[in-house]
Amino acid sequence: MTLAREICSGCGVKLQTDNPEKIGYIPTAVRDREPLMCQRCYRIKHYNEMSSATVNPADFLAILSQLGKSDALIVHIVDLFDFEGSLISGLHRFVGNTPVLLVVNKIDLLPKAINPNRVLNWAQKQAKQNGIWASKVVLCSARKNIGFDRVVEALSELRGNRDVAVVGATNVGKSTLINRLIRDYSDLEAELTTSPYPGTTLGVVNIPLDDGRSIIDTPGIVYDSRLTELVQKHELQAVLPDKPLKPTVFQLNEQQSLFFGALARLDFVKGERQSFTCYMSNALSIHRTKLERADELYREHRGELLAPPVKEDLDKLPPFTKHAIRIPKGAQKDVLISGLGWVKVNGMTGAELMVHAPRGVKVIMRDALI
Ligand code: GDP
Repeated sequence: MTLAREICSGCGVKLQTDNPEKIGYIPTAVRDREPLMCQRCYRIKHYNEMSSATVNPADFLAILSQLGKSDALIVHIVDLFDFEGSLISGLHRFVGNTPVLLVVNKIDLLPKAINPNRVLNWAQKQAKQNGIWASKVVLCSARKNIGFDRVVEALSELRGNRDVAVVGATNVGKSTLINRLIRDYSDLEAELTTSPYPGTTLGVVNIPLDDGRSIIDTPGIVYDSRLTELVQKHELQAVLPDKPLKPTVFQLNEQQSLFFGALARLDFVKGERQSFTCYMSNALSIHRTKLERADELYREHRGELLAPPVKEDLDKLPPFTKHAIRIPKGAQKDVLISGLGWVKVNGMTGAELMVHAPRGVKVIMRDALI
């Protein structure tokens, strides 16, 4: 229920009692408490704790346009595990020449032996290819507190006298990172201020910093092209990796298939025998079969042998659509299934693949990350 004429005294958003994840949520029990404040602002103010709120892409673009007109450094957080899926496409169309710091989060998920400089170069290149012109790219893990000093250093280098506006898709770790920033820099004795930006009705929160400027927290943008948005909440933990990735390698002959739970499927249609390295949550089971048996296996065993999703949740996932992918000869490429992870194809001899993923989920080929 939207509460008529009741707005949050922190962020100015219209209050609602229906959905704790959407902006403006207030529990019914505290609707009469003064001053009226949404749960997100309440937690920042009283517990120094950021929580996530979400908006759809259209509303998010309105927020970006407002940020573009303000004098803020944009901090765009992306998830290394779903890099292309969590990039905000068209960012510069909305924020113009406002400087952008790209923070690549969750580097703790990389297998231990990986050289971070290589990953940094890769991220810089991928960002450019996807139309993000960052003034700087830094790697960090908000949760494990790795590289936070690099983030702070980059902020002071790029920020000058500006506010810091943090933007990102859902689940990239925006709240975790902002919580760290707040603990170090903010003086929450000061009031949260209703945003000076007209985007205020869209849930932008100003968190005052000690130096008179603010961190501007924006709601997380929900991209339905990420599998993480399509699975049920209780299945998210099987999909979102928690520990460093332990890649699983399959030597496949042509006409073999891999099932990733019942969430996606990869067919090796044509090519010489070669290795396929899967970088996915260690909690997800991968099943190999012959291509000619794959349809039948899916029909008969999804929700059981092939899970998640479990049987009761199968019909909540959109049906599979197919993506034909040709790995060129001599190239090391990843096939990314947004939100689920990626498969590195050691395509020295080339390969023809068919990827089946729930309708709407982004499936792309890219230069290998590892
Ligand atoms: P938000 O939706 O962008 O605000 O993301 P949250 O901060 O709520 O984090 C989403 C999920 O990612 C949570 O399960 C976090 O524990 C996890 N997460 C956040 N930062 C990191 C990180 O640096 N590494 C890993 N592995 N997980 C993280």
